[in-house]
Amino acid sequence: MNTEVKLNGQKKVSLKGFTLNELKDYFFSIGENRFRGEQVFIWFYKHLIDSYDEMKNIPKNLQVQLSESTVSINTLKLISTMSSKETGTTKYLFETKDGYKIESVVIPEVKRTTLCISTQVGCPLDCKFCATGLMGYSKNLSAGEIFDQYKLAAKEYTKSNIKNIVYMGMGEPLLNYDETLKSLKIFAEDLIPELSLKRIIVSTVGIAPKIIELANSGLRVKLAFSLHSCFEDIRSKLIPINKKYSLRENLDAIRYYTKKTQTKITFEYLMLSGINDRKEDLRELVKLCNSLPSKINVIPFNSLDHMNPGGFSAELQPSSKKRIYEFVNALKDQNINVRVRHTTGEDIAAACGQLAIPQ
Ligand code: SAH
Repeated sequence: MNTEVKLNGQKKVSLKGFTLNELKDYFFSIGENRFRGEQVFIWFYKHLIDSYDEMKNIPKNLQVQLSESTVSINTLKLISTMSSKETGTTKYLFETKDGYKIESVVIPEVKRTTLCISTQVGCPLDCKFCATGLMGYSKNLSAGEIFDQYKLAAKEYTKSNIKNIVYMGMGEPLLNYDETLKSLKIFAEDLIPELSLKRIIVSTVGIAPKIIELANSGLRVKLAFSLHSCFEDIRSKLIPINKKYSLRENLDAIRYYTKKTQTKITFEYLMLSGINDRKEDLRELVKLCNSLPSKINVIPFNSLDHMNPGGFSAELQPSSKKRIYEFVNALKDQNINVRVRHTTGEDIAAACGQLAIPQ
């Protein structure tokens, strides 16, 4: 992935996106001491440098060798930023080396600033409520491209430190499992103490075998599951891949995940009028939440009108504020841990499920 062809026909390697162990192995493989891998790791991922000549503790000849034999350190270019006047939410438009556009969003909140990053260009899943699905799928992002969204946003957004990262931008992280995992391993390293897996959430629509694999990876990252309905048939209408990886199979995998990692699962629940906000939806949701360590994020549905959707997507309407209020209070009455995720950035189409760019 992310390779360039050298003059002699060999492929240049892209070190950005390598984990600590991969960097150590790389330096060993070119006859250098393994600790060079640790030094370069710190320059890449802690100091967020742009070129090898900034690496003060790397000998000049090695700096030159690296810049000649590897792909450039920056995998993304910042094209533009757009800020919401109402909330300060900022959307970043980036371009990959091969010319694809992706978006990330910085969401400032009183106590914390959260960065929402993408794992794919577009998304292959075609969820009926999501703008990214409507734009189709182009490619998986590399771990370097996933990390560099943080790098560029952190360099641009200096008002407060980004400490929370949510994998909730474009794409399905578990369909790009290997590169997503590598990026998580980078964020998890103690060498960058300002970031930690405690402050990272990976959101998935539910790719059951990959949930099991992630549980077994030993990473203990927090997982969010885009539930949206407790009924298989309704969920399949909203999220077509539910026909392949059913809710039941996913819930089994999630049960395993929560046990293995000792974490709670966050259920994301979009409020769609008449589709998942009925009495029977509430009853099933309570049953489910009582059956495993969990909390619920209720998400008001953000309109897709700016995308002119057709078919079932065009029929989807947000639940009324009153209905959301009743629904949430009914959950609270049952001692369910629930919060409403307030929409932010709707005026710049940067809210959940609104990320989409024509390629
Ligand atoms: N594919 C992953 C990661 C994307 S996360 C996943 O689905 O979990 C995007 C989050 O925003 C998910 O919880 C998704 O359900 C939610 N979302 C998608 N479209 C939305 C919309 N129109 N309004 C509000 N939330 C939406």
